[in-house]
Amino acid sequence: MKHYDVIVVGGGIAGMTAAIYVRRANKTVLVLEGRTYGGQIINTLNIENWPGDMGVSGVDLVQKIYQQMTELGAKMEFETVTAVERSDNGFMVKTEDETYTAGAVILAVGAEDKKLGLASEEKFTGRGVSYCATCDGAFYKGKKVAVIGGGNTALYDALYLADIVEKVYLVHRRSEFRGDAVLVERLCGKSNVEFVLGYVPEEIVGGKKVSGVRLVSSGKVADVKDGMDLDIDGVFVAIGKLPMTGGFAGLVELDTGGYIKAAEDCVTSCPGVFAAGDCRVKDMRQLVTAAADGAVAADKAVNYSNN
Ligand code: NAP
Repeated sequence: MKHYDVIVVGGGIAGMTAAIYVRRANKTVLVLEGRTYGGQIINTLNIENWPGDMGVSGVDLVQKIYQQMTELGAKMEFETVTAVERSDNGFMVKTEDETYTAGAVILAVGAEDKKLGLASEEKFTGRGVSYCATCDGAFYKGKKVAVIGGGNTALYDALYLADIVEKVYLVHRRSEFRGDAVLVERLCGKSNVEFVLGYVPEEIVGGKKVSGVRLVSSGKVADVKDGMDLDIDGVFVAIGKLPMTGGFAGLVELDTGGYIKAAEDCVTSCPGVFAAGDCRVKDMRQLVTAAADGAVAADKAVNYSNN
């Protein structure tokens, strides 16, 4: 069984930053990633809030961090972690193929797209329903689309799509947006963007592909009609994320939303296990806060594995 001072579960920004810091402390580290490294940011084309690199794409940024991490001697394996268990001198980390041991573990498992929960959403996924505007936006050139959500993801998606498609309906259940005011202001300057406030999707309709969405009043905005239909070719769902923490519920305490209970020190309810990035309870889920968590968790994990 291969042993590492620290094993990081998840190869997003938090996980890769943690690995950089563990290597800088001259400890061995393995990052286990079940999908593609980089996490959610790989879907962003143009990042404006990563200090020192205005306009860098998510893919380019992730590539640079990966290179930095591996040049410092961190290792990444593409394996899905199935269990983390306490052992005599630390932890056993099991994947589908291997079992590793570690002095300390950092959970940096991130979050995935939240679904509307409609049967028609599942039916049309990949046939008009998308969770990634930068991945799929180009398919809708000259067409009409709806973006669902009122957070920064929805606002960025609507801005991005407005430059490609004929018309963007931004459907949000409240009249105030959760996302940044500066983005709302930019959207107001786009002649092909229409805000549809006070509604939620009830059904996505179509034949082989999406042809429309039926909306109903969310009950959160006064004086809106009971329902309305939009004739559109695509629905971009951007209603937030869900932490990918399900497999660790028996190891660390989670809050009711499934986020790992850990404060800014990244310390969880299980000694020797630390939580970093979007999977942790926190107010602000950003690239910089994910990176900051990676550094803090690495420092704690190195100290723990030394003792
Ligand atoms: P979010 O901030 O949680 O926003 C989710 C939005 O979807 C909210 O407006 C919410 O409405 C709405 N919503 C949730 N469930 C819904 C449902 N079932 N039906 C209809 N609407 C629903 O999620 P996010 O936009 O994905 O952003 C996540 C985090 O990443 C945030 O901290 C955000 O600032 C950050 N982010 C940063 C950047 C960047 O800086 N480059 C880019 C993207 C995201 P309510 O407002 O009514 O709750």
